[in-house]
Amino acid sequence: MAVDVRRKVPSVDALLRSGPARRAASTLGRPLLKRMLEDVLAEVRSAAAGGENPPPDEVLLARALGRASRAAQGMVPVINATGVILHTNLGRAPLPERAARAVARAARSYTDIEVDRRTGRRGGRGGHAETLLTALTGAEGAMVVNNCAAALLLAMATLAKGKPVIVSRGELIEIGGEFRIPDILAASGARLAEVGTTNRTRIADYRAAVTDKTGMILKVHPSNYRVIGFTATPPAADLAALARTHDIPFLYDIGSGLLHHGHGHPADEPSVSDALEQGADLVTFSADKLLGGPQAGIIIGRAALLERLRRHPIARAVRIGRMQMAALEQVLSIIATGKEGEIPVFRMLRESPEIVRSRAQLLSETIGGELEGARVVRCESAVGGGSMPGTVLPSWGVRIRVPDGPSFAARLRTGTPSAFSRVEDGFVLLDCRTVTDAQIRHLARAVHYALEGDEEHDHDVHGGEDHRGGGGDPGDDPDRGDARA
Ligand SMILES: *Cc1c(COP(=O)(O)O)cnc(C)c1O
Repeated sequence: MAVDVRRKVPSVDALLRSGPARRAASTLGRPLLKRMLEDVLAEVRSAAAGGENPPPDEVLLARALGRASRAAQGMVPVINATGVILHTNLGRAPLPERAARAVARAARSYTDIEVDRRTGRRGGRGGHAETLLTALTGAEGAMVVNNCAAALLLAMATLAKGKPVIVSRGELIEIGGEFRIPDILAASGARLAEVGTTNRTRIADYRAAVTDKTGMILKVHPSNYRVIGFTATPPAADLAALARTHDIPFLYDIGSGLLHHGHGHPADEPSVSDALEQGADLVTFSADKLLGGPQAGIIIGRAALLERLRRHPIARAVRIGRMQMAALEQVLSIIATGKEGEIPVFRMLRESPEIVRSRAQLLSETIGGELEGARVVRCESAVGGGSMPGTVLPSWGVRIRVPDGPSFAARLRTGTPSAFSRVEDGFVLLDCRTVTDAQIRHLARAVHYALEGDEEHDHDVHGGEDHRGGGGDPGDDPDRGDARA
């Protein structure tokens, strides 16, 4: 019987020969459409093995076409109404306008990224960003790579390959997205020498572990969680002193890239300037967390150590692209001139609840009176991106009462414009801290489309089609786990 049903599944070629398929192939390209049809048919075939009849050809074709056009379209801009400022699944930090323009310029043109224009000779990649970084932090030297994970990998491979790296058991953390400190350490060829316990590690534990083979002392800021209660960690300054006595490099991975402590930053969030002052030889951090820049990993500290890092083959493997570099230069120069207000992440972190409230008010008015269940409510935003765990920012948003919160949130995501929300207690919440003024009318439009709940969307959402990126809705996640790394 099952065999009969399977015979009803059409062939890829038969579907590709149809008129609509040929027209679609002329815009989307035949290889992509063919591949998506193959995927759809494989699914239908396995359902047929269980006795399920295949849907009509038009439905199969529409399904493949939907997937092909999403793939051909590529990434789409989305409105982040989750209230998670550094939402890793949504690309972390939106760039300031000036940086975005620099990216476009660098993208279209040749640039002097690795050449000294005066001599015409090859120069180091990223000289301007490094100059700005040393000026901003007071460090001897700086180096920019693809991301902070790459910075750690490069530093450990260069300075500690085949040697033990001393780390506290309380700092063997997973940052998210499969990125774990012990794994990156192993990948670098260094050996893990764990000391202390999960909640308490003393300087004596480090001292006892140091041998003449030790390659590095590593301190990692447990950026996405907090151990509270009966805890102890030696101050970075003590680790620096111990490392200096034994002539071992001390690397402090602070992760989030807070340059200096300012208003509203928790006292236990380490800053770059603190880490240097405490005597770290190298400090690593991401450019797309609290710095508000593009994806990049920054290493600052002793010039002699950085010189060794630059010469290691992994440096080439993790080098930064020119578009990222163009954006980073602008962000650093914005900070250097005290114009942080231009940086969206700074704006979102510092904006007063009153201003967020007026934006929520505007959103609710723009959505309009027809939606009785749309109310301006108080809520809480999160920093995300593995920064400032446990810190919540008082915020305001619009709460929408709908019969089925998760499916409404899914329609918001898959619509055009696409918007990401939070589902709390069955309500859909649009947190206005992470929304810009210019996005308000688009967000209101997205809400209207989602309310109309047209069948095409329903089909998409309930028919097992992907929700772009899969892995569930980060906004729905009560602990916002997906927003970490
Ligand atoms: C986020 C983070 C990283 C990883 O940074 P990426 O730029 O995402 O590679 C490493 N270490 C710490 C402490 C972090 O917070």
